[in-house]
Amino acid sequence: MKFKPANNIQDLQYFGEFGGVNPSISDSSTYTFLSAKTMFDTFEGNADGCYLYSRHSSPSNLYLGEALAAMEGTETATVTASGMGAITPVLMQLCKAGEHIVSSRTIYGGTYAFLKNFAPRLGIDTTFVDITKLDVVEAAITPKTRVLYCESVSNPLLEVADIKGLAELAKKHNLKLVVDNTFSPLSISPANLGADIVIHSLTKFINGSSDTVGGVVCGTQEFIDQLRNVNDGAAMLLGSTMDSLRSASVLKNLRTLHIRMQQHSHNANYLAEKFEKDGLKTVYPGLASHPSHELFKSMMNYKYGFGGMLTIDVGSLDKANALMELMQERNLGYLAVSLGFYKTLFSAPGSSTSSEIPEDEQIEMGLSDGLIRFSIGLDADIHRTYEMMKSCMEELNILEVELI
Ligand code: PLP
Repeated sequence: MKFKPANNIQDLQYFGEFGGVNPSISDSSTYTFLSAKTMFDTFEGNADGCYLYSRHSSPSNLYLGEALAAMEGTETATVTASGMGAITPVLMQLCKAGEHIVSSRTIYGGTYAFLKNFAPRLGIDTTFVDITKLDVVEAAITPKTRVLYCESVSNPLLEVADIKGLAELAKKHNLKLVVDNTFSPLSISPANLGADIVIHSLTKFINGSSDTVGGVVCGTQEFIDQLRNVNDGAAMLLGSTMDSLRSASVLKNLRTLHIRMQQHSHNANYLAEKFEKDGLKTVYPGLASHPSHELFKSMMNYKYGFGGMLTIDVGSLDKANALMELMQERNLGYLAVSLGFYKTLFSAPGSSTSSEIPEDEQIEMGLSDGLIRFSIGLDADIHRTYEMMKSCMEELNILEVELI
């Protein structure tokens, strides 16, 4: 082809059955067959283009899966009812009783809770490590290890995983590298850097309208077929299926993701630079002070920036709560968990999204009480937002105390 793909999503072309510019929504849970033999073949996974039952697949889910696979550069993908509905089947498909996972210790609290509290009930143990230290990661690998698990940019500390380095380790020890890319869609493409499986919570930036939960697993055709296998596929048997109406709406939102990510990144970068200059302890991968700034740069797709997530540390939970309440009162965002909305969202992860992590472990990983996690919105005038946020901080004496 003469032209390189624009961004893989732009070049997809789907029509509805009546020539609609959006694919028709498949509003059926089950599908008819003209011959009993084709039904049997479909059960066996040998009848391409035929649909059986919507927990297995549906045209709408396949459209969305295809678009997300194109975005991540994997052979295919399967969509799920939530991000956790993508993560848990993947890990259960890859590991059986007696096997072992090496995971980053700074990951989404729900994933941490699954690995720490639930997976051991299935005989699957996890060693949590500082994912930024490849020697520590390698030292944790045992003959029983099957999976290396991390987030490209971690929730909530914004640690950055060296995906190429981890992929080399995974290859050397014959493991699967599973990367949750929820915080950095488009900015980082883990599969291109060597990840075997890429997961997203679609609930966040990809859907972008905070109106649904959803997830996706992107990987090889072979692995996705295993997940969907009617006899022993974890996605098929655990049943975390996305509804077709939802997948149609997520697909429509996906089309504006590139523009939204550019604006989220632009706004977050602007605020991070200003906050840091004001003397606030600020963590953002786009800042030269971020310990993995250069690593992020070496992995990123430049035009989408360093993402929409940043953290500041205001010293104590009381101050964090007061600031978040005041910012909400001034309509600068919402005191809410989740991310990727048009409006800025903020929360104190130690007492919310990471509360599953015991306090002593929070301290060890550097998750302090006064940490506020921001998902920066699509504000049209980010300088005005900054001025208003700064005045909230001044009113609460946060800047004076934190000035260095
Ligand atoms: N992965 C990350 C990085 C997350 O932040 C979250 C949720 O906050 C999840 C996975 C889980 O996604 P969901 O809430 O869609 O199940």
